[in-house]
Amino acid sequence: MFEYAERIRVLPPYLFAQIDKKKREKIAQGVDVIDLGVGDPDMPTPEPIVSAMKKAVEKPEHHRYPSYEGMFSFRQKVSQWFKKRFGVDLDPDTEVITLIGSKEGIAHFPLAFVNSGDVVLCPDPAYPVYKIGTIFAGGVPYIMPLKEENMFLPDFKSIPSEVLKRAKIIWVNYPNNPTSASATLDFYKELVEWAREHNIIVASDLAYSEIYFSDNKPPSILQVDGAKEIAIEFHSFSKTFNMTGWRLGFAVGNKNLIAGLGKVKTNVDSGQFQAIQEAGMIALDLPQEYLDKIRETYRERRTAMTEALERVGLEVYRSDTTFYLWVKVPKGYTSADFVSKLLDECGIVCTPGNGFGEHGEGYFRISLTVPTNRLMEAVERIKSLKL
Ligand code: PLP
Repeated sequence: MFEYAERIRVLPPYLFAQIDKKKREKIAQGVDVIDLGVGDPDMPTPEPIVSAMKKAVEKPEHHRYPSYEGMFSFRQKVSQWFKKRFGVDLDPDTEVITLIGSKEGIAHFPLAFVNSGDVVLCPDPAYPVYKIGTIFAGGVPYIMPLKEENMFLPDFKSIPSEVLKRAKIIWVNYPNNPTSASATLDFYKELVEWAREHNIIVASDLAYSEIYFSDNKPPSILQVDGAKEIAIEFHSFSKTFNMTGWRLGFAVGNKNLIAGLGKVKTNVDSGQFQAIQEAGMIALDLPQEYLDKIRETYRERRTAMTEALERVGLEVYRSDTTFYLWVKVPKGYTSADFVSKLLDECGIVCTPGNGFGEHGEGYFRISLTVPTNRLMEAVERIKSLKL
């Protein structure tokens, strides 16, 4: 037997594996399982994107190796979209890079800037890749708890100065997975000022930037003056355009940070299939009605599910971004206990809050990626628990 390398052995236990196993057992027993666990949109990719892909795949020029940093035409389209959406100018040549899904960029980024023993400031609860990418790069994650009383924003000003001296990167993610919280431009202004003072890179994950339900569109940190000196921002096609399977994203921001990420990527991958990038250009030009329809579907599900859960006595964090609900577990249960009970007694799969880090304990996450009638069926089953 070969032993795993230390970097694999130190990873936190994969909490979801047990749930997944149980879920498969339930399905094998014939249980009608309602899966509210994964953040994977149930709606198909909009038709114009699929049509563009069909045409693009036939072009022989796309059958060869793509460029490492992505097609120039794709990066140009990204900079046009960014200008329209956030009012920020980006140089497509130096301030934009194509990613094979944003996860790829998020995981690789620390390799470019973190030396062994350097600290990376990671939110908790959070998408696990910030911590894992840090560990793979030999860095040390420093946990920033996201607390409800702070509207799930990190209290970065309270981080001790001896930690700040060793800190290279701070990760932030708004609209947030798993809490569904959002950040204002004022939050980013303070963050940019603080990060410049302490010479820390801000890595901002905007995977859910287009999943919003009010007139307050989620801002980009790059809208803040001076942000381009210290910030990189990660974007994804996955949630915005129902394209999780396609693996397409991009990073934008400071040109040295983009170049550093590019250097890592040149050595580990060979870019994304150009046909996918061509379809991605169509996605960025999609008529607004398509995205409005997707948002309307999630809005309807969010409202119906929040109200129904509150009627059965559960406490839901009220928000108007993302397709997640962050719900408190009833008194007397841990996150893992309650999620197990939901699966065992109701055939419902949810994600325990502590799967996103220790500060997620006491909550569970519901993904609104099933139709409203299934969500209502889930609430009927929860009702039978008599909480
Ligand atoms: N960031 C967050 C917060 C996510 O929740 C996800 C996926 O669930 C990603 C990034 C990665 O998205 P993708 O790699 O599909 O672009």
